[in-house]
Amino acid sequence: MATLDGINVKDIVKVERTSVHSHITGLGLNHRLEAEYVSGGMVGQVAARQAAGLIVKMIQEGKIAGRALLVTGEPGAGKTALAIAISKELGIDTPFVSIVASEIYSTEINKTEALTQAFRRALGLQIKEETEVLEGEVISLDVDRPANGVGPKVGKLTMRTTDMETIYDLGSKMVDACLKERIMPGDVIQVDKASGRVTRLGRSFNRSHDYDAMGPKVKLVQCPDGEIQKRRETVHTVCLHDIDVINSRTQGYVALFSGDTGEIKAEVRDQINKKVLEWREEGKAKFVPGVLFIDEAHMLDIECFSFLNRAIEGELSPLIIMATNRLIEKVRGTDVESAHGIPSDFLDRMLIIHATPYTVDDTAKILSLRCDEEGVSLEPTALDLLVRLQSATSLRYCIHLIAAAEVIRIRNKCERVTTDHISQAYRLFFDTKRSEKMLTETSGYLH
Ligand code: ATP
Repeated sequence: MATLDGINVKDIVKVERTSVHSHITGLGLNHRLEAEYVSGGMVGQVAARQAAGLIVKMIQEGKIAGRALLVTGEPGAGKTALAIAISKELGIDTPFVSIVASEIYSTEINKTEALTQAFRRALGLQIKEETEVLEGEVISLDVDRPANGVGPKVGKLTMRTTDMETIYDLGSKMVDACLKERIMPGDVIQVDKASGRVTRLGRSFNRSHDYDAMGPKVKLVQCPDGEIQKRRETVHTVCLHDIDVINSRTQGYVALFSGDTGEIKAEVRDQINKKVLEWREEGKAKFVPGVLFIDEAHMLDIECFSFLNRAIEGELSPLIIMATNRLIEKVRGTDVESAHGIPSDFLDRMLIIHATPYTVDDTAKILSLRCDEEGVSLEPTALDLLVRLQSATSLRYCIHLIAAAEVIRIRNKCERVTTDHISQAYRLFFDTKRSEKMLTETSGYLH
């Protein structure tokens, strides 16, 4: 946690797991904003992806203020996938917050407060802070393979140390040791001069983004020989909601871990907004509007829409992306029917993208991408079976089956996942339709 002008801030830490969408890296468009059939982890949906690409362009050019995006389409048509692809296009530091509209009714706080919190979680702020480089901290590690690929890797490690011999005496041996330990800039290390062994003592600050983006291919700016940098500018990416919570007297820092933030006073937010705008004016901070994705948008009621109508006009607003599979529906809290259950004045402000249902080839390609992502090798017949199951169940369910079938494969010590493994997983785990059917039959039996 850092402090700026007496306001406490805390970095956003993005933990990337193998989630159902982790194969998506972007919209997969070329420089003319045209979509290839498979690119960026996205399959098909060419028109929707191109439209989404234009939205990204509009955001980057600051032309989307006061508007929102609506993605319509059948369950599993890739509405969430599109929203995630948009946020990935906007950059690694762009906050992405996803909620299901019905969630806001189940929290202990009132619905507009719940929406405000989601809204502010999707608002990022990059704050620059000058800090001291610690003793033993790696500043850069610049590594090159020999052109012919033979012989040791050459490179240069720059770290802050009072013991200059460490750097000059160990040379490429130390670079090798750093690569072996996957040492990154920002790590604080200890070097054993006799053996050249490198031990990571910890990290001086959070640079997980650098780590994710660069993986083992470390390539950073080289410092001139002998000149050891003592200070550097650290960029913290924080979200406004966390700043609210930490600086709210009743909640404070601990609430960030418990998640039980309660209601935050309007004065706290006003004060923070004022400060944030000041920092922006003074060039101390850069505002990073993120994406707030609201699934099942038809579940929002008229009060929520009024709130959002005002909020998206504000100077501090993320991009709101809503998704729904409803056609004509009553707007909650009224007797008025409207397209997608969204009031017409709000709908007027929205750009609408339609996600079309997938073909068999699209489904096969998405399932193959998921197998690659999860490191699962499927026999072609097993993939065919999954594709056939998808039409009777759902894409998400079949994606879950891949992981379950892989566990069964390992237990059976087979090389690849077979139709048998898929069938076993299918028998063990119910999809929604079978689960509903079973419940209906059982409830008839119990009464
Ligand atoms: P729901 O209406 O049930 O919320 P949805 O329309 O949001 O569903 P997703 O959750 O986006 O559907 O898609 C289901 C799964 O298929 C996810 O794992 C998603 O990443 C993947 N997926 C969907 N569309 C695509 C696509 N075009 N390319 C790659 N993966 C996709």
